[in-house]
Amino acid sequence: MQGTPGGSVCPGLSPVDRWTLLVSSFIMVAASGQMNFTGDQVLRVLAKNEKQLSVLRDLEGLKPQKVDFWRGPARPSLPVDMRVPFSALKDIKAFLESHGLAYSIMIKDIQVLLDKEREAMARSRRLERSTSSFSYSSYHTLEEIYSWIDNFVTEHSDIVSKIRIGHSFENRSILVLKFSTGGSQRRAIWIDTGIHSREWITHATGIWTAKKIVNEYGKDHTLTNILNAMDIFMEIVTNPDGFAFTHSMNRLWRKNKSTRPGVFCIGVDLNRNWKSGFGGNGSNNNPCSETYHGPSAQSEPEVAAIVDFITAHGNIKALISIHSYSQMLMYPYGHSLEPVPNQKELYNLAKDAVQALYQVHGIEYIYGSISTTLCECASPLAAAVGVTPTWGQEVQALC
Ligand SMILES: [Zn+2]
Repeated sequence: MQGTPGGSVCPGLSPVDRWTLLVSSFIMVAASGQMNFTGDQVLRVLAKNEKQLSVLRDLEGLKPQKVDFWRGPARPSLPVDMRVPFSALKDIKAFLESHGLAYSIMIKDIQVLLDKEREAMARSRRLERSTSSFSYSSYHTLEEIYSWIDNFVTEHSDIVSKIRIGHSFENRSILVLKFSTGGSQRRAIWIDTGIHSREWITHATGIWTAKKIVNEYGKDHTLTNILNAMDIFMEIVTNPDGFAFTHSMNRLWRKNKSTRPGVFCIGVDLNRNWKSGFGGNGSNNNPCSETYHGPSAQSEPEVAAIVDFITAHGNIKALISIHSYSQMLMYPYGHSLEPVPNQKELYNLAKDAVQALYQVHGIEYIYGSISTTLCECASPLAAAVGVTPTWGQEVQALC
């Protein structure tokens, strides 16, 4: 998914603004063990118009980045959520106020939430050890997930197998689960979760979905029909290095962990490393940016492994990538306002899926193409949806 021209300089900032922001320190203490986010806040900002959005985009383009956008500036009707390090809070709040931007404090202290999350994981782990059962309602480390995959494949060997499609930059295995009831090179559906390593809920969703597939096969009519005709491939940990790092050091790490000679900052945003629209809107050419696209398309082993696998398979009919932080169902393109050839079909599919979801869970998703859903320049179809977003996916601005 592609987004805003975040790599630009800051045309909307006065020299004083720029200086104020640049001199404010951006230090994440990595003394020993886990990085600490004490006092970091998440601010929800409501831009009234395009002009105010553009001020926020300037913040996004700062080098070094002072704020971490969880939901980037897209259009005035969508709030912008950003994590601001404690050291930069005063300056950023003053900056927002000076531009008449209204904000609220959505998370007062991120570390408090991270501590609670860690405690919950520890509690769950103790319980798992005593009962030998995997908890599907708590988070797990990479080792725990890979161990679960091995057990899962053994227990359901009639329907599930494990494929190693490559190795990460730090040489971790990249694993894919294959759900199949037979046949060869059948039409298939691809699902990946966790390409952004900090989006832990997506790994958990992948694991839960995998379990659901084996549980429901032979019981649920729709799923059984799908699996009798098609295969499903699931990559649960799409960014294993980044994911391991979120557990060992930095809970909020998003990119992979690749390094390059002469480049100070680490990691590439794997979701900006695809060939389609490479380097376009929504990606950044600054290696220190959270949306850095990498030196070239498919430069990252984690992306190349997927591309090679899907290309070699040759019969994958649907690709679904799960992210967290919003309720949105979006389809291509992200890097262009150009409609895809089967735009109408995708629109109807998204509409049906969102309606079905609402009927079961009462949760409202917005939907449409990535570029039109996130931009003011919405298509008549997307605009007709008229659903207000509630909470939630990392969404980079796409205009
Ligand atoms: Zn994401």
